[in-house]
Amino acid sequence: SILDDGQPHPLSTRRQVETAIQRLEREFTITTSMLHNLVKAFMRDMERGLKRDNAVLKMIPSYVVRRPQGDETGTYLALDLGGSNFRVCEVTLSGKGQVRTRQKKFVVSDDLKTGQGTDLFDFIADCVSLSMDEFNLDKKAGLKMGFTFSFPVDQHSINKGVLISWTKGFTAQGVVGEDAVQLLQDAFHRKGLVITITALVNDTVGTLVSQAYLDTSTYLGVILGTGSNAAYVERVENIPKWKGGPTSTGQMIINMEWGAWGQDGIILPTTEYDLRVDRASPNPRQQTYEKMISGLYLGEITRQIMVDLISTGELFSGRRHAALEVRGSFDTAQMSRIERDHSMELTDTRTILEDLYGVKKTTLTDRRLVKRICELIGTRAARLAAVGIASIVTKINKLDGCTVAVDGSVFEHYPHWKDRMTDALRELLGINAEHILLVQARDGSGTGAALIAALAETGSS
Ligand code: BGC
Ligand code: MG
Repeated sequence: SILDDGQPHPLSTRRQVETAIQRLEREFTITTSMLHNLVKAFMRDMERGLKRDNAVLKMIPSYVVRRPQGDETGTYLALDLGGSNFRVCEVTLSGKGQVRTRQKKFVVSDDLKTGQGTDLFDFIADCVSLSMDEFNLDKKAGLKMGFTFSFPVDQHSINKGVLISWTKGFTAQGVVGEDAVQLLQDAFHRKGLVITITALVNDTVGTLVSQAYLDTSTYLGVILGTGSNAAYVERVENIPKWKGGPTSTGQMIINMEWGAWGQDGIILPTTEYDLRVDRASPNPRQQTYEKMISGLYLGEITRQIMVDLISTGELFSGRRHAALEVRGSFDTAQMSRIERDHSMELTDTRTILEDLYGVKKTTLTDRRLVKRICELIGTRAARLAAVGIASIVTKINKLDGCTVAVDGSVFEHYPHWKDRMTDALRELLGINAEHILLVQARDGSGTGAALIAALAETGSS
């Protein structure tokens, strides 16, 4: 038991800690039957989004109607905005599924995320200019560019799309309701860069397309990182709201914007802690699913629980610590470390709590309790993410086998994530779960955007 740490805990404290753990387990466990109900609701919401605008799942046609053949060639620029870093990439496609990339990473400061949109786009243009110097590229040559802009965008064509709302802590003024490509093109113009933006791409679509370049059985692209979302290949006749007529392939990649799922307040089993995280965010009552499964939020949910257990005396003998009281101070990377700590005394967990947060003299029970909280939040997240994947695979009839391209820091670095997701898929789909390959796709945002820019050039993207 969490309490068997050789310390003399008074009986009342023992009871209190045990009761708290039981309560948290009740609140945060997603049972098999809940998984099944969630899939039903998710599939219903997918259908709704394909029928009409303004549904909870936006199900946005991406205007990408083909996956690459592997024989695409050429040199392209790609931008990636929307995760923890901003990247400029030079991507060379040499056919036969081969890719070479060079890239530069930049940090987007909080000031840029929350300031004036023109400043944000000027910063992007400056970074592009700097990178082109470094890559020895001609700034006046009209190079083709794919722009990965990982936010909900109402796509009007392959290279035009209006920002519906910001997510992931961005709030820059003057961008919502505007065409992101136009804003970027204007900034390039101000900086004297001659570049042609031929594709505006969501990171999920880029991830799907870049994995499909290597493996043609790829039908889903999923991001589990700072934010979360998925894209998949749909048949055009299954998209009643699509008024663009038939496509050359009969297919259309759909950017689901699954992060918004549950924001109608009906289905997701949110707790008081989720509500607190939501209320303190810049976009309250939006992106409910994303706030339960993605990296920007998991640490904060955990912190809310710790603060609560401190206030009721179950954790750290009720002693408060300034560093832990700060919103956003406990990030998901700390959870990863704690979940990876398998030492008897939980020594790394101690280092985190005592050195980083100034908690004096944690007991083993404290540390076990913190670890248990991380496990509960991390497991709930992975199981909820499996709901989305199981729903899509079922909807498109690929239970007999397909590849799911997954990218993002959480999927890549959070321990046990894939196993927990696979467990949930097995509970949902039985033996069929074995045929669903979850593949780590690297750099979908760079290569994917370049591939889509290449596809756009050949006419029928
Ligand atoms: C955005 C999506 C994006 C996802 C992953 C979400 O917040 O709305 O467009 O795909 O994050 O980056
Ligand atoms: Mg990314």
